[in-house]
Order: sequence, then C-alpha cells, then structure tokens
Amino acid sequence: MTITVIGTGFVGVVTAGVFAELGHQVYGLDIDQKKIASLNQGDLPFFEPELKELVLAGLQTKRLQFTTDYQVAIPDSQVIFVCVGTPSADSGAVDLTYVESALLEVAKYLIPEAIVVVKSTVPPGSFDHFAKIMQEVTKVPVALASAPEFLREGSAVSETRHPSRVVIGTTDDRVFTILRNLHQPLGAPILQISPASAQMGKYAANAYLATRITFINQIADLCQHNGADIEEVIKSMGFDPRIGNHFWYPGLGYGGSCFPKDVKELAYFSRTVGYGDNWFNSMQEFNEGRITRILDDVLVKVGGVDGQKIAVLGLSFKPNTDDTREAPALKVIPYLLQKGVAQIQVYDPQVQLSRTPFANHSEIDQVNQSTNIAQACQDADGIILLIEWPEIVEFEYSQIRNKSKNQWLLDARNQLDPQALSDAGFQYLSIGRTWNKSHE
Ligand code: NAD
Repeated sequence: MTITVIGTGFVGVVTAGVFAELGHQVYGLDIDQKKIASLNQGDLPFFEPELKELVLAGLQTKRLQFTTDYQVAIPDSQVIFVCVGTPSADSGAVDLTYVESALLEVAKYLIPEAIVVVKSTVPPGSFDHFAKIMQEVTKVPVALASAPEFLREGSAVSETRHPSRVVIGTTDDRVFTILRNLHQPLGAPILQISPASAQMGKYAANAYLATRITFINQIADLCQHNGADIEEVIKSMGFDPRIGNHFWYPGLGYGGSCFPKDVKELAYFSRTVGYGDNWFNSMQEFNEGRITRILDDVLVKVGGVDGQKIAVLGLSFKPNTDDTREAPALKVIPYLLQKGVAQIQVYDPQVQLSRTPFANHSEIDQVNQSTNIAQACQDADGIILLIEWPEIVEFEYSQIRNKSKNQWLLDARNQLDPQALSDAGFQYLSIGRTWNKSHE
C-alpha cells in the first residue's frame, strides 16, 4: 500500500518509519523544506531513541522518502495520515489551522477511495467541519477517520511498533476494514468506535494522566506540612490494584507538547458548554502556578539566591527527548534570573540552549551551557535536578561538593538518596518528603 504521512514531527516521522518497516511505500510530507532535506539525508531534526536507525533503514530500502510536494504524494496514496501540530490558541482552544491547511491541500489531489486519517489530536465535532471544507475543494467523496496517537516521546518508536491499542474512529465499515488490516501486524487490540469517541478518548487519556500528576503534587504539598513522605505514601497506595504504583511523578508539575494544551482545550470546551467551574480549569491553574510556588518555598529555605551561581540539570521536558515544549527549565531559568542569581550553568545530554525558546531571553548572557554535569556543578551554590536523565540521576554529587560553601541541592524529581546527599554536606531539598523538614 502507498501511504502519505503529513507532518514530519515526532508523531509523523515515527509513523512513517514504522509503516515503511512493515513493507509499505511511504511518503513523509512536510511544508518545512529544511526539515525534509535533512530527513532525506537521514539527519533527524530532533532526538528520539531508535528513530535514526528506523529512518535510515527506510531510506535504504527506498520504501521511505520525504517530500514537500502534495501533488506528488497524494495522488499516489490510498491512506493519508495527518500528523501536523495542534497547539493552543490564546483562548486555550486548540488551533486547528495546520490541520485545516493540510486537509485542504490533500483535498486538491485526493483519489477515489483514499482514506484520510487524522492522527493529530483534534476535538470531537471537528470532523463535520473538516469534511465540509474538503468537500468544497474536491468532487471525490471524502472518507475521514480518526486514529489518535498515544505514543510517548522518549519511547515513541517502540510504542508505535507495539502500541497498547489502536483506536479507529469511523462508522464506515470499508474504512475500518482497510485500517484494521493496515494496523493488524502491530499485534495490538484494534477498536472501532465513533470519530467523536476516539477524539474524546484521546483528550480524556491525557487529562487523566495530567490529573494523576496534579493529584500527587497536591498530596506532596500536604506532606510538607504533616510529616508524611510522599514516596512512602505512593508505596502504600500502590498496592491497591485500583490505584497501582505506576505513573506517580511528584515534582514541578506536568509539561511537554501534549498535556498542557490538551487540558487547556478541555477547560475551554467545558466553558463554552456552560461548565465554567470545571476540574480542567483548576488543574491548569494549579499546574501553571506550581513552579513559582515551589521555588518561592525553596528560596525561603536556602536564604535567597541573590548573587549565587546555580546549576540547572535537564532542559528537555522529560528524559530521552530533546523536546523543550513546556519544559520546566523555561520557567525556572527566568525565575532565577529575576531573583538575582549571578550565573546559571545548564546541562542537558541532548538539548542545546541555543535551540530553546529561551535563547532569545534578554539575560541569556548570564546562562551558559556546560558539556558535562561536573562542569555545570563546579562551585555552584545551588544545584537543581530538573529532569531525571539517567546520567543526571546516577552522577556522584559528592565528587563536586565544595566544602568551603553551603551548597544546596533541589531534587525536583525525588530521584536521589537524601541520606547520601546530606552526608556529603548538601542542604538537600525535594518534593513532599519529610526530609525537607527534619534536616533543614
Ligand atoms: P510537531 O510540532 O513535532 O510536528 C508537526 C509538523 O507538522 C511540523 O514539522 C510542521 O512543519 C508540520 N506541518 C505543519 N503544517 C503542515 C502542513 N500544512 N503540511 C505539512 N506539514 C505541516 O508535532 P508532533 O509533536 O508530532 O504532534 C503532532 C500531533 O500529534 C499533535 O496534534 C499532537 O497533539 C499529537 N500527539 C503528539 C504526541 C507527542 O508526543 N509529540 C503524542 C501523541 C499525539
């Protein structure tokens, strides 16, 4: 089968690579010419484990090619996946401009019986509008299906090869049969539900995961005041099979390219249908204010950061990706600068500071990138572990302890051994642990 995947971001390149691996002829299509040129050379514009090998294999077998030309790819394709971005507009509503312009281009060259599958996260109800605008451009009957993407950056290739489920939103049995056969080799359960349910299921899944993070952060905050330790609390809760001990991340709140924008869309949609007072609004507000609240508290404990040198470890929004969308570093660094730090040394295994939105910050001269953790932490007054990249967690911090200074370390992901850090002479701070109280 010939397939076009539109949008060569995290979702699109992985999708294109995996379908080429399954033996299909695949076009990866994007409007970004630079990106397409580098992909055709086998150079990825972002980091994702296993992806470079997957793309190189596809290019070598010639089953995968990248193009900017709709006119070449679409008339050749029986299935077209739309994987373009759906960021938040200022109102909080999802911005569907990229999806709409991709669909309008597709409509110009659509062949009869071709299926257009929207993988981008779009709100329930958008299909009527998509079908209408496409049908104004083409006489070919438009067959639209939804197949929301559930992959996680950092393990996107393995999760696309072995998804937990494939959800196909369509009421058309012909469309379902073709898409079921296409996905069957992945070995996952395949569900046929309505497009609106498929789309709502995607939003609900992300909002639920964001809820777990928000919930455990609220419990962690209470632990700061009542002598409980959030890590012990999680252990005790996890034995209940209704709860489980997975996906509990007390920290600075959720970030990344999906949870914040998907929660915002649900909050926005709730408001438009009369639920002004809704959980998604509250969750979003709590999450947005969290970094400032935690750092305000840390500053009280360490006696301020004016004139200090601080090491910030981890610039991506989570380990094993170089994606910095809604990464905590983008809020933490400006906060520290505003509080008068003299110098910030950052370290990340994959992210270059010069490629973050932060690069345009007016005080960027005070922020420097180190090539390793030891260099970043050298003579630092404070160290902030923001992201649990394995090498950041495994680093021996006692090595860089400067005994002539009172050094503090904020473990914002509760990853380090409090006793070892304290024995080494650091003022150790973390999230929702009694350690913060009894050892301050
Ligand atoms: P991305 O921002 O990394 O990539 C989007 C790509 O689409 C860009 O390369 C852009 O140039 C391209 N594009 C925009 N308009 C285009 C057009 N008209 N024609 C062709 N290309 C166009 O996006 P992403 O992170 O891969 O996310 C894509 C969608 O998948 C979003 O709706 C997102 O919510 C959803 N999703 C993302 C993830 C994730 O982990 N990143 C997981 C699940 C679902």
